[in-house]
Formats: sequence, structure tokens, C-alpha cells
Amino acid sequence: MSLFEEAKKVIAGGVNSPARSFGGVGGDPVFFKSGKGAWIKTEDGRDMIDYVGSWGPLILGHSYSPVIEAIKEKINDGLSFGAPTIIETELANKVREFIPSMERVRMVSTGTEATMSAIRLARGYTKRDIIIKFEGCYHGHSDSLLIKAGSGALTHGVPSSPGIPKSLAKETITLPFNDTQRVRDAFTLMKDKIACVIMEPITGNMNMIMPIPGFLEAIKEECTASGAILIFDEVMTGFRVAKGGAQSVFNISPDLTTLGKIIGGGLPAAAFGGRQDIMSYLAPEGPVYQAGTLSGNPIAMLAGLVTLESLEEKDFYKNLHNKCDLLMTGMLKLAKNHDLPLEVNYLGGMFGFTFNKNGPIKNYEDITNSDINLFKDFFHGMLAENIYLAPSAFEAGFISSAHTNKEINLTLDATKKVFSLLQH
Ligand SMILES: *Cc1c(COP(=O)(O)O)cnc(C)c1O
Repeated sequence: MSLFEEAKKVIAGGVNSPARSFGGVGGDPVFFKSGKGAWIKTEDGRDMIDYVGSWGPLILGHSYSPVIEAIKEKINDGLSFGAPTIIETELANKVREFIPSMERVRMVSTGTEATMSAIRLARGYTKRDIIIKFEGCYHGHSDSLLIKAGSGALTHGVPSSPGIPKSLAKETITLPFNDTQRVRDAFTLMKDKIACVIMEPITGNMNMIMPIPGFLEAIKEECTASGAILIFDEVMTGFRVAKGGAQSVFNISPDLTTLGKIIGGGLPAAAFGGRQDIMSYLAPEGPVYQAGTLSGNPIAMLAGLVTLESLEEKDFYKNLHNKCDLLMTGMLKLAKNHDLPLEVNYLGGMFGFTFNKNGPIKNYEDITNSDINLFKDFFHGMLAENIYLAPSAFEAGFISSAHTNKEINLTLDATKKVFSLLQH
């Protein structure tokens, strides 16, 4: 019996998170055994170049030795206390240094908790109920946010999940990404009822989509004018597209920011934070309740701290971006030679590519109208060549500092081979 069949007998659907299944591309998921740098080893003994990096956290590659060594030493002091430890303050200071809009920080364990808590805080602070989100953006799987969501929800055809009370869904307004006028109209209609706007400033859960010029600025302006809270969900883009996240790239300070993935360096850690006056509404200082037994776990905090410190290396993001550039421009050239309609986006260590006859991807509608079948064939072709891409046309790709020209050239060789098969 296959490993996946075994798993399915005891784990719901055989996976502990739907994005891991191959629901978006067909076939059985690959079981991983170990990873080192840019490479993973599978349970059936294959070595593959990894462009998923545990869905984002592993910006330094698998088994990055400074993180592994630090953790090995630290675990001898105990795994969890549920009481304050110095390392929590140290990581919070580092986060604020990288992202100055996060004047106060609260550590949690997952991105889902971070966004759920930020929404509650925004509602508590503004004493309003309505939230605005964008079609195809994914903010974790809490009730208010699983409406027209991206990532696994989109891949598996359930962007709006059953199990969410209608009364709650009513409080979530979903608008198309990159449509400034629709944002302005929503604020004109409901301005004093909107608690917050939550968004991925660069999307990564309906593939990678950049905001068009003026879009983020207009949202910031409307939020400020109406007293709504602007939440940038940088769980994916934080420390990924730039040291200071997407907000540093576009020079826009949100009121609250959510972080995850890289902040835990591969262990479960996430955070939310922002304006001090808003964050002081959180218990124990304020009335909005939020808590967590394992929040700020010292081992996870240390993995995060050593990871963030490693990002301070000179030209770290420039080098990452150059590697993405090599991969993406290489793929574009090959696509052109083979007459395939490839569109790409990339920044820092994050990239996205789509097969789309109608040009660049700007929103959810564009990505759902792209050639998903061509992506599936490309994915399986690359997998056969030992290149592991995200198993869904709606996900972004990630490059780590451990990816060298060697891995990228191997990937382009594989791409060339697969493209010539696709063309025929
Ligand atoms: C991954 C992700 C989340 C959810 O984080 P989890 O740790 O999986 O709960 C939320 N928002 C964005 C933008 C993400 O990419």
C-alpha cells in the first residue's frame, strides 16, 4: 500500500493541510524525508530541487545550520514555560527594527491566529463590524476570512467554505483586487461601518500578483479618512520580498501587520502588531481578548531570531532577487521559443508564473481564467525531472539563499525539456 493510502486510513484526506495534497494537479502527494539547502530527499529516494520551502518559511534553505545548532543547544533548557522569556523580547525588537510600523508586537503560533486576532482587535478598537477583503487573498482559515479565499481553498474549489454562519459572512465584504474604484465605492456606501481592510499587499495565494500603482495608496487614504484600520497581511511577504516586507517596498505604513512563515524559521511562530494605541486595546492592557498556551515558544522564537539575523547580511535580498530574475527570465525566453504564453512576477525571494493568453494577471478573475491544464502538465513534467514546484496554479514559488546558479540552471534545463513536450 502506498504511503498516501496508509495516511488516508488515519488522517482526514491523508494530509494535515489541504494545500499539501495534489488536489490542484492530480496524483498522490510526494512524501518528504529530509532536506538540505535547496534540495529535498523523498521517501522513495529521489533528490529534488525545492521551490516551495515549506510554503515560505525556509528563506535560508532546509536545515540551515546556524538555526539547527542554536535550537539543539537551547532545547536542553526546556521546551516551553508558558511564562515570559527573554528571547520573546529579543525577537519582538528585531521584528520592530525590520518593520518599524509594528510599534507593539504580539507573538502567536500560526498565521491564521495572527490574522484572526488582528481582525478582532480592529473590530474591538473601532467598535464596527464590517471587514473588507479581496477576492483570492488568503488570510488563514478563521470564519470571517474564509470567504472568497485563495490558496488551498481556491485550489480545492471551496473559496467560501460551508460551516461559516451567514450572519458572519454578511459582515465580510469581498472586492476584486486592483480595482480602486470598487474600494472607493464601498467606503462611500458604508464608511462609518467599516472596521478594517485586510489584504495581502502583494498577493501570493492566487499566484503572485502585484498591486497596480495607486491601489494601495487609495486604500490607505480611504482607511485614514474613515477611521478604518488597514491590515497588511504579510504572513507570506514579510521578510520575503524585502527585509521590511511589502510595506517597505511601497512605502506605505499599515495600522496593523500580520506575520508568519519566515518569522518562525521553520517552527510554528507568527505575530501581529502595529500602532501602539491599537495594540494597547489587547488584553491584559485592554478589553480585546487574545491568548495562547504556546505563544512565544522559546524554541520557535530562537529559530525565528537566528533566521532574521541571517537576513541582515549585505545584499541578501538583492542576491535573492537576482536568482529569481535568472530563473524567471530564463523561463520566459524558453516559453517564447516554444510559443507558450507565460506570464511572470517576482520580487526578492518570491515568484509566480502563469500560462495566460490574455497577458499579465491582475486579479482573481484573470488567474481563474488562465490555462490551469497547461500548468498541471508542466507541474507533472517538472516533478518527473525532480523539480518540486507548488502543486497548484494558484500558489507562489519561493527561492532560498541556498539556491545557487547550479540549481537554477538545472531547473531551466528541465523547463526546456518539459516545454518541448508540452508544445507537442
Ligand atoms: C500562509 C498564510 C496565512 C496563514 O498562515 P498559517 O500559518 O498557515 O495559518 C495567512 N495569510 C497569508 C498571506 C498566508 O500566506
